[in-house]
Amino acid sequence: MAALVTQRVIDVHHWTDRLFSFRTTRDQGFRFENGQFVMIGLPVDGKPLLRAYSMASSNYEDTLEFFSIKVPDGPLTSRLAHIKEGDEILVGHKPTGTLVQDALLPGKRLYLVSTGTGIAPFVSIIKDPSVYERYEHVVLVHGCRKIEDLAYGEKIVEALPKDEILGEIIGEKLFYYPTVTREPFENKGRVTDLLSSGEISGSFGLPQLDPDNDRVMICGGPAMLDDMVAMMEEIGFDEGAVSRPGQYVIEKAFVER
Ligand SMILES: Cc1cc2nc3c(=O)[nH]c(=O)nc-3n(C[C@H](O)[C@H](O)[C@H](O)COP(=O)(O)OP(=O)(O)OC[C@H]3O[C@@H](n4cnc5c(N)ncnc54)[C@H](O)[C@@H]3O)c2cc1C
Repeated sequence: MAALVTQRVIDVHHWTDRLFSFRTTRDQGFRFENGQFVMIGLPVDGKPLLRAYSMASSNYEDTLEFFSIKVPDGPLTSRLAHIKEGDEILVGHKPTGTLVQDALLPGKRLYLVSTGTGIAPFVSIIKDPSVYERYEHVVLVHGCRKIEDLAYGEKIVEALPKDEILGEIIGEKLFYYPTVTREPFENKGRVTDLLSSGEISGSFGLPQLDPDNDRVMICGGPAMLDDMVAMMEEIGFDEGAVSRPGQYVIEKAFVER
C-alpha cells in the first residue's frame, strides 16, 4: 500500500438510494489539476480495493470531495456506501486525467457535458476561478434519468453565486442545464440530442456549437461518450490532449465490467 495515503472521512451525504458524496481530509502535498481523477478505495481482506474517482473539490480547498454511485453488488461501492464520519479511506498519490484546461485551445465558451456521476470533475472545474478568466461563458450540462439524481449538482450550482469570492468572479458567466430522460421536467431528453438540436445553446441565447469558439469537455457513460464523440467529429471538433490541445476532451465516468 506504499503508493496510498490514508485519509479520514469528514462527512457523508446520501442524495438518493443510488448516489452519495463524501469529504475527506487532504494532505497538503496532494496536488492535482481541477478535472483530474485519482484511485481511491478501502482495504479488503488486507489488500487495497481501488477504483478511479474524480475529485469534485477544487484544488485550492483544504478537503477532498467525491461524488459516488452505489452499485448494489459493486466490489467497492457496496462497501463505500456505508462509510461514515471518522472512517479511513485510501487515496492514491498520482492524480491524472484528460479533463484539464491545458488540453484545450483558447476559446470563448466552455461546455461541460456530463451524465450521472460524470458531473464530478466539472464540479471541481466550475469552482475554479481561472476558468472564468479563460472563457466568456461556462455551460454546465447534466443529464440524468430522474430529477432526484440532479440534486448534488443543483446544490453546488445554487451555492456558487452566494460564495463571497467566487460569486463575484462567476457573475453571469455560468449557465446550468439539467435534463432528465425518465420523467417530466422543465428540460427533457438526452444531452446529445439537446446539444445537436441547438436547444441547449439557444436556451441561453448562445450560438450553435462551433469549433472556432466553443470548447467541450465530456464525461459520461460509454454510450453517451460514443454519441458525443461522433457528434463532435461530425461538426468539425478535434480531440485534444495536453501534448496537442484541441477543441474537445473526453473522460469515461465509468467502465463496463
Ligand atoms: C476515469 C474514471 C473516473 C471515475 N470517477 C468516478 C466518480 O467520480 N464517481 C463514481 O461514482 N464513479 C467513478 N468512476 C467509476 C468507479 O471507478 C467505479 O467503477 C465505481 O465506483 C463502482 O465501483 P464498484 O467496485 O462498486 O463496481 P465496478 O465493478 O467498478 O462496476 C460495476 C458496474 O457498475 C456500473 N458503474 C460503475 N461505476 C458507475 C458510475 N459511476 N455510474 C453508473 N454506473 C456505474 C458499470 O456498469 C460497471 O460495470 C470512475 C471511473 C473512471 C474510469
